[in-house]
Amino acid sequence: MNKVIVIGGGPAGLLAAGHAAEQGNQVTLIEKNLNPGKKLLITGKGRCNITNYSSGKDHIDHIPDNGKFLYSAYARFSPYDLYGFFSEYGLKLKVERGDRVFPASDRSLDVLKILLKYLKDNNVNVRQNTVQKIINNNNSVQGVKLADGTFLKANNVILAAGGSSYPSTGSDGSGIKLAEELGHRIVQIRPGLVPLKTAERWVKDLVGLRLRNVEISVYNSEEEIVYHDFGEMDFLPDGVGGPIILSASMYLENLAENSYYLEINLKPALSDEQLDNRILRDFKKYSRKNFSNVLGDLLPIKLIPIIINLSGIDPKKTVNQITATERSYLLKLLRKLPLTLIGAGPFEQAIVTRGGVAIEEIEPATMESKLINGLFFAGEVIDVAALTGGYNLQIAFSTGFLAGDNCT
Ligand SMILES: Cc1cc2nc3c(=O)[nH]c(=O)nc-3n(C[C@H](O)[C@H](O)[C@H](O)COP(=O)(O)OP(=O)(O)OC[C@H]3O[C@@H](n4cnc5c(N)ncnc54)[C@H](O)[C@@H]3O)c2cc1C
Repeated sequence: MNKVIVIGGGPAGLLAAGHAAEQGNQVTLIEKNLNPGKKLLITGKGRCNITNYSSGKDHIDHIPDNGKFLYSAYARFSPYDLYGFFSEYGLKLKVERGDRVFPASDRSLDVLKILLKYLKDNNVNVRQNTVQKIINNNNSVQGVKLADGTFLKANNVILAAGGSSYPSTGSDGSGIKLAEELGHRIVQIRPGLVPLKTAERWVKDLVGLRLRNVEISVYNSEEEIVYHDFGEMDFLPDGVGGPIILSASMYLENLAENSYYLEINLKPALSDEQLDNRILRDFKKYSRKNFSNVLGDLLPIKLIPIIINLSGIDPKKTVNQITATERSYLLKLLRKLPLTLIGAGPFEQAIVTRGGVAIEEIEPATMESKLINGLFFAGEVIDVAALTGGYNLQIAFSTGFLAGDNCT
């Protein structure tokens, strides 16, 4: 019987193992943690955004890092197939805003339970251990060596050991090293879907403030726009975070060396003329008050001292003394509140790892290594990464399924 070893008990490894066993292989899954699925349990804030209920093409459009490499994986096991898989296994699902799919129970544990049942039903042997080395002879995989020195023989090995983000969950980059030791090229790993650090220190005064319905634009040093989005963002002690900032992080490289800057449009729903009229209206209403006391109708309280300070307008000036030039500067500030981006948060805060095993050395139709026969890759260990919305778990499931499908 064909022996398959799966390294890693995350979503990619679990689906790969179950499906490889379903195909008639004898499968052993090795997970270094006491139990599989530690990261899966914290996904979607414990609710697990399993996938996005949209076509494979739509998913690929949300995968900025090498989405096109996944066409075959999505053709073989699409987001709808995944939905069907969980439904048939008895997991009730629901589709929320933005087509995000969650278990109806809002509990990621229920998703993990289904995957473990899938393994049990197909007689997958789950072992707790760490794979230290993948053994290869004449470019053909032979098995794996475990941390306790044991050698396990296999005809196929599926490397599904994840990336480097949230290392406390077990995804500490060791899987990527296993591939590198076999001669695979590794695209430099870096944190993705991560908060961004700013040069401006005033952000710390806004910690706890979430801006909703704002528009951001990120520019590079050539003043070209590299990212534009609309939605919610937060302030952190040393920078900015929240959904639109995490997405922006997927389009920026080497923040420490490249100079990127961010502009926040605090009032995107209003045209310049409408915003000016709005400011004039408030100035009229509070005409005898100091400038420091007139922005309460327009801005969240925490933001007012920051805007006053950046505007350069004397806060003690009564509003009827503010000049047209000063007012137009204030308008510009509300439109383009500037921040200088100087770095990304660490892997400990990154939802995904960008980089990993180079896609050129993986056969997209099977997930098999082009260098080592019988070695397959699945999930975040590969140099693919998506935006939020259930797309990253779908990558893990589709590539896991495809790898399991091709173990013979
Ligand atoms: C906080 C957070 C929330 C997220 N929420 C979502 C979400 O809602 N929706 C979504 O689509 N994506 C989400 N993601 C991303 C998603 O969790 C990952 O993309 C996905 O888990 C990757 O799956 P994987 O199986 O490739 O790797 P992992 O889930 O990282 O699993 C890899 C496993 O391999 C094990 N391992 C590593 N090295 C070895 C070794 N040498 N020997 C044995 N075992 C080893 C690890 O212990 C780990 O259990 C979230 C990520 C984080 C951090």
